[in-house]
Amino acid sequence: MHIWGLVIALLFAVPAAADTQAVGSLDGVPIIDALDVRDITTAGVQHYWFRAGPSPVGQPWLVPVVVIKGAQPGPRLMLTAGIHGDELNGIAVLHRLAASIDPARLAGTVTLVPGLNPPGLLQSARQWTPDWTRSAPNLNREMPGKPGSSAVAGFAHRLWQGLIRPNADSAVDLHTQSRGTAYLMYAFASSPRTRRMAELVAPDIIKMDKGERGTVENTLTDDGVPAITLELGRPEMFDDTMIARGEAGLLNLMRELKMLPGKVAPPPASLFVANDIVAARATRAGWARLLLPLGALVKKDQPLAEVRDAFGTLLETVMAPAEGRINMIATDPRTDQGGTIARIVWWSPDPVCANGC
Ligand SMILES: [Zn+2]
Repeated sequence: MHIWGLVIALLFAVPAAADTQAVGSLDGVPIIDALDVRDITTAGVQHYWFRAGPSPVGQPWLVPVVVIKGAQPGPRLMLTAGIHGDELNGIAVLHRLAASIDPARLAGTVTLVPGLNPPGLLQSARQWTPDWTRSAPNLNREMPGKPGSSAVAGFAHRLWQGLIRPNADSAVDLHTQSRGTAYLMYAFASSPRTRRMAELVAPDIIKMDKGERGTVENTLTDDGVPAITLELGRPEMFDDTMIARGEAGLLNLMRELKMLPGKVAPPPASLFVANDIVAARATRAGWARLLLPLGALVKKDQPLAEVRDAFGTLLETVMAPAEGRINMIATDPRTDQGGTIARIVWWSPDPVCANGC
């Protein structure tokens, strides 16, 4: 071989400089500023603290990361939870996957991030910071972030650049409904490919949705990475049924991606796919009592809830604004004028709505 041919061959044989370098450790767990799962060369489970930004009191915000490196090569799946700090079921799902996925049987790499928003989780707040006097930014509207801008944009940028984007060939971001409300098991998808991902996770409802700017899901899909948002019921609790369903659904998705051996279970026959949504709102403030359960099928103008005043006198009956399925309810009966009592999803046959109206 010509000498320059040898030099070039050697250059290409040398792996790229490792991004995943410990900058310190906490109780033996490496603290890192960047993760590239390709730097991990042996099958097994690795724990990291990802340094996602400074806090006002000196300690950095540390985000927990579990990397399960498979014994065989394969795709990189990114699973994140807790970007809204009152939405907890996804954290338990990721903990269970960390315990149940055997690296020896895995092809590819699963990165689990069970708690993207430490300040929100500390306060059980949907927002990134509980600084109610100034702003309450939503971390799931800040991706891909921006360095040198606001604290939350810098935090989002570190997560996006150092953790989420470099390690995702596909992704699922786990949520629940917010405080005072509840969902069924509910997935957002934006294309035929991500609809297929959502079907395999076996939720009660899939909502085809164009999405919102700055979410983990839509920032990934805009960048060509198939991703869905998975909603698992109620906030501020570990619900065993939802957690077990979330775990089973994600394992099924991994079988479809050929990351785990075994037969892929088909989507459930009861799956309800929607592409439009409408809120049923109270026009009077008072105490709202639902007349139908979460998940019920409704007809247009069917009574949904009664609103009573402080003495128990009926103020109004809130009717269903459309025919469809109740995908969300208010669990807190206190309602303001214009407050959402429930949301109803349905399928619009309009072809422009195929991937969300
Ligand atoms: Zn959420």
